[in-house]
Parts: sequence; structure tokens; C-alpha cells
Amino acid sequence: MTASKHPETQVLHAGYRSDPATGAVAVPLYQTTSFQFNSAEHAANLFGLKELGNIYTRIMNPTNDVLEQRIAAIEGGVAALSLGSGQAASAFAIQNICKAGDNFVASTDLYGGSWNLFANTLKDMGIECRFVDPSDPQNFARATDSKTRAYYAETLPNPKLEVFPIKEVADIGRPLGIPLIMDNTAAPIICKPLEHGAAIVMYSTTKFITGNGTSIGGMIVDGGNFDWEAHKERQPHLNTPDPSYHGAVWTEAVKPLGPIAYILKMRVTLLRDLGAPMAPFNAFMAIHGLETVTLRMERHCENAIKVADRLNGHPAIEKVIFPSLMSGEARRRADANLKGGYGSLMGIVLKGGAEAGASFIDKLQMFYHVANIGDARSLAIHPATTTHSQLSAEEQAATGVTPGYVRLSIGIEHIDDIIADLEQALS
Ligand code: PLP
Repeated sequence: MTASKHPETQVLHAGYRSDPATGAVAVPLYQTTSFQFNSAEHAANLFGLKELGNIYTRIMNPTNDVLEQRIAAIEGGVAALSLGSGQAASAFAIQNICKAGDNFVASTDLYGGSWNLFANTLKDMGIECRFVDPSDPQNFARATDSKTRAYYAETLPNPKLEVFPIKEVADIGRPLGIPLIMDNTAAPIICKPLEHGAAIVMYSTTKFITGNGTSIGGMIVDGGNFDWEAHKERQPHLNTPDPSYHGAVWTEAVKPLGPIAYILKMRVTLLRDLGAPMAPFNAFMAIHGLETVTLRMERHCENAIKVADRLNGHPAIEKVIFPSLMSGEARRRADANLKGGYGSLMGIVLKGGAEAGASFIDKLQMFYHVANIGDARSLAIHPATTTHSQLSAEEQAATGVTPGYVRLSIGIEHIDDIIADLEQALS
């Protein structure tokens, strides 16, 4: 089949036509740990990276391979790597090019799990994260020094839901040899970070990508659009002999295979050594979820705009936080980076503070009360008493969480049912 550039087609066809052994049309679940080599020469070629193929499921698996190819195709990247969770993906995205003594610059508007990973766990490993306010893209340049190896941000970070200036920050990094890594978990399909200049895209596939709430997973897509070799001093870990793989210089080693130095190194060193693969069963679930992601995103976005319009000005609500209701630079950034909608995440600030927030959550009947986003079902949580309860009131305010803030992830149910549940809980 001719390659399609339409995501609606790619989610069904990219990377797989039918099973060569059985003709099965649905992507099979290859629930196996290892793969028989054709000959001693074949085995040697696979290990020597002269040929790409299956060796052992910790490092690659044919079910995962289809998911990787599909997501790489949708993003316009050259290759992808599936991992056990979004957290593993964030960690690997940095560890692949930062070692002890190096640093990276990240937006302050981040998922709490990424914040903790960067501020504490990576710090303990000697990798410094410099957090900067993304409202001024130049803050990334100001925090950069000779040891800065990457920039990192989220496209549509909650709770503030202010879209990140992807092009502006990518443009600062590129001439310096610094790739922008975008966590696009909250905005698949509606944002293609590579088109705006990002070099790497990562996902928690747990959310919108899989969409059915069954399986934890992560994904990293290599845009193949970053000239690592032109920045040998800035990116030493891809340009100097790697003792963990027979002294391979990754930018050299991949030459017969294409511009996949970043993602291949990650697969054959970090994934091999730290061992955080996506289970083939979860890849299977993600593939079957992914088939409907374009339709789901349309409905998520359509429903969310209707909810935002309905709740805006409601007597019990102080403020609705949603990109379509923003103005000025925040709105410009949303319109420059998102196409086809503003996502499904929304903040509502209740007039009655923390008590009102908690009681609103308790009154919801259809919405699920969970610490999750991006499920096909509508979800809600009151961050001040749950996800952000360990923070002081000042720290909560700095992250954008006020006592009456409730986070909604608007699902794909009928809009009348969504609005009815919200209105009865507000009344
Ligand atoms: N990135 C974002 C934006 C998230 O919301 C999450 C989880 O909520 C993660 C990364 C981590 O993903 P996972 O829970 O799959 O490890």
C-alpha cells in the first residue's frame, strides 16, 4: 500500500498489512520472550547491527514494532521506541543524552511525576534539571551553558493548560545543538511537535493513545530531523565511542540505517541495561486503542469546547481554564500549535474553595474520580486534596492549583450526559 500521510489511515495501516504466517489482519500479539535465528551468520549480523531484526523481547518485539511504526508515522518521525510507562519514556529521553555532570533545561509547567523525576531522581544520578518559566522562551537560552544537552517541555500542561511555545524554544536550541524533547501526552493528533521544530516526541500511551484505560505504556519518537553529528562537543554521547557497545560511535554506526542515532542508542543500550520494555500485551492493547484515536480526539475536543462554553459564567464557578477561553499570548500559542481542537483537559475553579471542590467531586455520578487523564470516559479530580496535597498552599499556587480547582478530562460520552452530570453536581 502507498504510504499515507493522513493519521486516520496511518492508525489502521502503517507498519503492518497482514501476518506473513497466517494472513491475520488484526495485529497479532507475539507473546514470546525470544526469536529463533536463521543461522549463526544471521545472529551475528543482528548483534552487530548489520541487520535489524528480532532478538529478545526486552529489546524488541513484532507487536511493539507495529505500534512503534504507527506512532512514528503519525508524528512524521523516522523511528520510535515503546517503553513500560510514560515515566520510563521521560527518564530515557533525558538519560540517553545526559550523563552525570550534564544538565538540561525544562519548563516549570510539567506533570508532577516528571517534576519529581527531574528534581530528585535524576539529580541523585548527577543530572541537573534547570527549571524555567516558559512564558518567556528566552529563559531557556539564559539557563543554557556548555553542559546543557536538551530542552524538555509538555505541549498542553495541566493545570494551567497554557500551550508551550514549541517553535520559539526549538529555534533557540537548534543552532546550539540542543534538541527540544516534547511530551505530547495531552495533545496527540491535534499537535505534531516535530512540525514545529521539536526533535523528539514522547508519550504516556496510557492516556489518549490507548484511550481505553487498560494499559500503562510510554513511547519515544525520533524525528530524524536533528543533526547530532554537526554538534560533536554539545552531544558527546552520540559522537564519541560508546564503551557499552564495542566502542560504537552512534552517529557513525547508524549511517547505513538512516538518521536514527538517538533512538537506536536508546534501544540497544538503555533499554538493554535498564530493562523497561512495554509488555507485548500492552502494545497489543495500545494498537487496538490507537485505531480510533483520531475519531476520539475529535469527539474529546468537540465535547470539551461545549463544556467550557456551558460552564463559563456559571454562578458556582469563579473561572474556567481552557485554551479556547484564553486571550493574548496564551491563546496565540494555542492556535499556533493545536489544530482541530484544544484538547479535553479543563480546569474549573469553584467559588467555594477546597470544600466546594471536594463536595463537587463527591456529587459527580457519571464522571470517574481518578488520578488519570485521556480515558474515553469523563474523569475528574480535586488536586488540592489529592495529587497536590503534599505541597504547601504557596507551592500549590505556584503550580496553578488553587483550593477550588477541579481538573476535568472530558470524555467521548454524549455531550448532554456530560453536561447533565456536571450541572447536577454544581447545583
Ligand atoms: N507525562 C504526562 C503529561 C502525564 O500526564 C503522565 C501521567 O499522568 C506521564 C507523563 C507519565 O505517564 P505514565 O503514568 O504512563 O508513567
